[in-house]
Amino acid sequence: MKNSICQLFGIQYPIIQAGMIWCSGWELAAAVSNAGGLGLIGSGSMYPEVLRTHIQKCKAATDKPFGVNVPLLYPDIDKHMAIIIEEKVPIVFTSAGNPATWTSTLKEAGIKVVHVVSNVKFALKSQAAGVDAIVAEGFEAGGHNGREETTTLCLIPLVKQAIQVPLIAAGGIGSGQAMLAAMALGADAVQVGSAFVMAEESSAHINFKQAVAEAGEGDTQLSLKSLTPVRLIKNTFWKKVAEAEAQGATKETLAALLGRGRAKKGMFEGDLEEGELEIGQVAASLTKTEPAAIIFNRMLTEFEVSKQKLAEISFIR
Ligand code: NDP
Ligand code: NDP
Repeated sequence: MKNSICQLFGIQYPIIQAGMIWCSGWELAAAVSNAGGLGLIGSGSMYPEVLRTHIQKCKAATDKPFGVNVPLLYPDIDKHMAIIIEEKVPIVFTSAGNPATWTSTLKEAGIKVVHVVSNVKFALKSQAAGVDAIVAEGFEAGGHNGREETTTLCLIPLVKQAIQVPLIAAGGIGSGQAMLAAMALGADAVQVGSAFVMAEESSAHINFKQAVAEAGEGDTQLSLKSLTPVRLIKNTFWKKVAEAEAQGATKETLAALLGRGRAKKGMFEGDLEEGELEIGQVAASLTKTEPAAIIFNRMLTEFEVSKQKLAEISFIR
C-alpha cells in the first residue's frame, strides 16, 4: 500500500522533523531529508536573510525534498513568504495562525501546504483553506500548543474522522512504538520534534540538550496558558511564571515577565535558568545526543519490530 504522505512529499518514509525555532536550521533539516524523511527549517527564529541562507545551504546539502515551517504570527511574514517562493521551497508547514491567510498564495506558487492544529475546529478550517495535509498536535508536544489540552491519543481519531486530507500526528512521538500507535489511530505520518532537538545537527545549545537528557517524567509543563501556551522545562523562569499565575497575574504582567528573546536565551544561548526551554513530555525518554540519521533509523526499526510483535497477538474469538 502506498503511503499518502510519502507520495505527497516525494519522500521514502513518513517521518517529518518538526520545524523548531532555534533548533532546526538547515543542518538538521538536510540530515533528516537525507535519511529519507522530511526535514523542516524552523523559520520563526530567523531574520529574512538568515532564512534565505538556511534555505540555500539546505539545497546544497540535500537533493531530497525539504520544507520550511512558518509561524503565521512572525513579524516579517511577507518577507519570509517572498523568499520561500523565490527560492522555490517545495513544501511549507504553517502554524500559529489562520490557514486561510497564506494557503492559496503558496499553492499558486506550486508549493505543498500543511497547517498545524491542535483541535478539530482548526483542522476543518485548514481543510476548507485548501491545505494538502494537516498536522494534529497533542498536549504532550513541546513549545507552543493548544489550550484545550487534548492528548495525541484522543486528538488523532477525532481529527481523522473529521477530515479527508492526509493526517500527520504530532505530540509525544519520539519512538517507533509511538509512531506505530499514531498510525494505528489513523495518522498517515508522524511529526517528531523533541527527539530531533537531541540530534547532533540540531542548532540547540549543548546546555539545552543536556537539560533535555536529564529531564524526567513531570519535568515539563504547559505554561503561560492565558498568553501563548508553551510547554517548558520547569526552571527558574518557569517558576517565576507559575508564581505570578498563582497570584492571578494579568496578561500584561505575564507579557512583561516574559519580555523578549527568552526562547533564544534558553535554547540557543544555553541559559538554563532564565531562558525558555521548549520541549515535549517525551523528553523524559530522551537521554543522549546522536546523529539525526541514527535517531531516524532507530525509529524505523522500532516501528517494524513492534508491528511484528503486535501481529503475534490475536483476540479473535
Ligand atoms: P548557518 O548557516 O547555520 O548560520 C547562519 C546564520 O543563521 C547565523 O547568523 C546563525 O546565527 C543563524 N542561525 C543558525 N541556526 C539558527 C536557528 N536555528 N534559528 C535562527 N538562526 C539560526 O551556519 P553556521 O556555520 O553559523 O552554523 C553551522 C551549524 O551550527 C548550524 O546548524 C547552526 O544552526 C549551528 N549553530 C549553532 C549554534 C549554537 O549556539 N548552538 C551557534 C551557531 C550555529 P549566529 O550568527 O547567532 O550564529
Ligand atoms: P520574541 O518576541 O520574544 O523574540 C523574537 C525573537 O525572534 C528574537 O530572539 C529575535 O532574534 C528573533 N527574530 C527573528 N526574526 C525576527 C524579526 N523579523 N523581528 C523580530 N525578531 C526576530 O519571540 P519568541 O522568541 O518567543 O518567538 C520567536 C518566534 O517564534 C516568533 O517571532 C514567532 O515567529 C515564533 N512563534 C511560533 C509559534 C508557533 O509556532 N506556534 C508561537 C509563538 C511564536 P534576536 O534576538 O537575534 O533579535
